Amino acid sequence: MDLCIIGSGYVGLVSGACFAEVGHHVVCVDNDQRKVDMLQAGQIPIYEPGLEELVHRNVAARRLRFTNSIEDGVDHSQIVFIAVPTPPQVDGSVDLTYIERVAREIAGVLKPGQYRVVVDKSTVPVKTGEKVADTIKRYNKGAEFDVVSNPEFLREGCAVPDLMSPDRIVIGSASDRATDLMKRVYEPFQAPILVTDVNSAELIKHAANSFLSLKISYINAVAAICEASGADVEMVADGIGMDKRIGRNFLNAGLGYGGSCFPKDVKAFIAISKQLGTPFKLLEEVERINGSMLTRFIEKVREKLWVLKDKNIAVWGMTFKPDTDDVRNSVAIDLINHLAGAGAHVTAYDPKGAEKAVEWKLIDPAKVKICATPLEACKDAECLILATEWKEFANQDFDAVKAAMHTPLIFDGRNLFSPETMRDFGFTYYAVGRAGAK
Ligand code: NAD
Repeated sequence: MDLCIIGSGYVGLVSGACFAEVGHHVVCVDNDQRKVDMLQAGQIPIYEPGLEELVHRNVAARRLRFTNSIEDGVDHSQIVFIAVPTPPQVDGSVDLTYIERVAREIAGVLKPGQYRVVVDKSTVPVKTGEKVADTIKRYNKGAEFDVVSNPEFLREGCAVPDLMSPDRIVIGSASDRATDLMKRVYEPFQAPILVTDVNSAELIKHAANSFLSLKISYINAVAAICEASGADVEMVADGIGMDKRIGRNFLNAGLGYGGSCFPKDVKAFIAISKQLGTPFKLLEEVERINGSMLTRFIEKVREKLWVLKDKNIAVWGMTFKPDTDDVRNSVAIDLINHLAGAGAHVTAYDPKGAEKAVEWKLIDPAKVKICATPLEACKDAECLILATEWKEFANQDFDAVKAAMHTPLIFDGRNLFSPETMRDFGFTYYAVGRAGAK
């Protein structure tokens, strides 16, 4: 099938490449000329495992191409996906200006007799589909189209496998014609398809992300009780998670959730529920617990180092999670900036995120020393903080790490290491909610 994706970011580019991989012809549109130039030159603007090969293979097979022209994309495609940003506003509600603009742009290029399915893949508040349809009709009275909601559930860091074999595909549609076309798009993926109305599909995405955030805050609240009582949150999480009704996923205690999705989606769901007159107070508590995790952790560091000013502190990790270069809303970045703001000399390392952290001005290299290796970051450090659970951090030569440091002290913000192993290496080790590692 001929598909167009408007917005070639984490969702749009990976979806486009995966659709091409199963045999569709895909045009990826972006209004960031620099991004389009890079993609046309074979460079991938984001890091996502497996993406580069996938893009190159499908470009070579002429199933995937890139343009800055919505008209080009819409002209050549039966189905037009929208995958542009939906950032939060100051009050937590969703800024829908990108979506509205794309709806107007689609209306501007739709030609008479050209039926198109306009699919919203961005995460949007319930009832956005209605607004998109109204907007297209307002700007193009004769337009022939249906609007479908098809929320995306990929996780950064494993976006390619998530898209190639998703747990489920949600299609929110009020039109049989559009639903049939969407089913054909997803036929090669052999995943269960749930067809709903448009509003329900939109709500599924916010409800799902809020629930996952709730699981994280739940285990973090349990971690605080573990610390106060001498229990071990990892064992508690294993014990809870072995119950099939609960599951072990998303029961990892630590510095809390971050990134470009969970914080904004929880905020959005709170705002949506308020607007609809049915406030969702539980989610306000989820946010409060999440925000408290970094504060508690920094307090722990401060308690051991006493004064942060002029202390040499090594931080491993900048991205909001491993296997991505995404540093948006990363708790690790907040931690680094807090320590630097308190006058500590921070030396930081991340396998993929450092460049973007500096490029997007989230970290000031005049205040934080960016290091080329984990070991370099540890030189003369009075403590090491693990802020993102990249696998490579677990496989370091900890004798060398200890020898490089001024003091063998580790604060593990993601419970990546085992307390026993770290103690065997001779470190004083603190984690989150772990017995004997308070
Ligand atoms: P992103 O910022 O990585 O990419 C968005 C792209 O859209 C950018 O390249 C931008 O230049 C482009 N764009 C903006 N306006 C445009 C326009 N008018 N025409 C053409 N291109 C335009 O964002 P993302 O992370 O891919 O997220 C997109 C949506 O998907 C958001 O609603 C997000 O909440 C949702 N989502 C994201 C993830 C994730 O893990 N990143 C997962 C599921 C859903």
